[in-house]
Amino acid sequence: MTKKIIFASRNEGKVKEVRHILNDLDAKILSLNDVGFTDEILETGNTFEENAKIKAEIIYNAFKLPTIADDSGLVAIQLKNEPGVYSARYAGENSTDEENNKKLLKRLKSFPEPHKGKFVCAAVYYFGADFIVAMGEIAGSITKEPRGTNGFGYDPLFLPDGFDKTTAELPPDIKNKISHRYKAFNQLK
Ligand code: IMP
Repeated sequence: MTKKIIFASRNEGKVKEVRHILNDLDAKILSLNDVGFTDEILETGNTFEENAKIKAEIIYNAFKLPTIADDSGLVAIQLKNEPGVYSARYAGENSTDEENNKKLLKRLKSFPEPHKGKFVCAAVYYFGADFIVAMGEIAGSITKEPRGTNGFGYDPLFLPDGFDKTTAELPPDIKNKISHRYKAFNQLK
């Protein structure tokens, strides 16, 4: 029988990527939208790993099904690792991707290029006992203006090392082979 695993996210951009990475598992990946979980989960941790564990534990306790979760974000070296764990809410609670991107560009304006940075992802699996944790990173730089419409979040601003296209310009199947999320979830798998 196909196993059910909950992915503790309602970010459809992330859900799509994780389903793609795990598509060779004999498992149905259910998102929080699929299971109808609408409560807000407060990300009170100081690290990506802590926040991923918080999400996995809350969802496991609510549904008692094997749960995977991630926490991820962009780290800009010149900004002392901002926005980091605040990536999704950099420009304020409920801020849009565009607002977050705008704030990042404004904060980087006074620094010389290249604006080096990386995407980081902590992925965890939890089924009521120990947490299994895997980390993934992709290094690159932050562009001066948004380019491309694929992906989500900071993708229009992120130029991975060795590429001349942002992760919003790269086809999704290429991003999915090099990304922080791919590395973390592939290892977790
Ligand atoms: P989370 O849902 O709390 O993990 O927040 C992740 C946030 O980090 C997203 O809302 C994006 O702003 C950013 N982020 C994480 N991974 C990516 C990615 O692959 N591309 C672009 N932005 C990302």
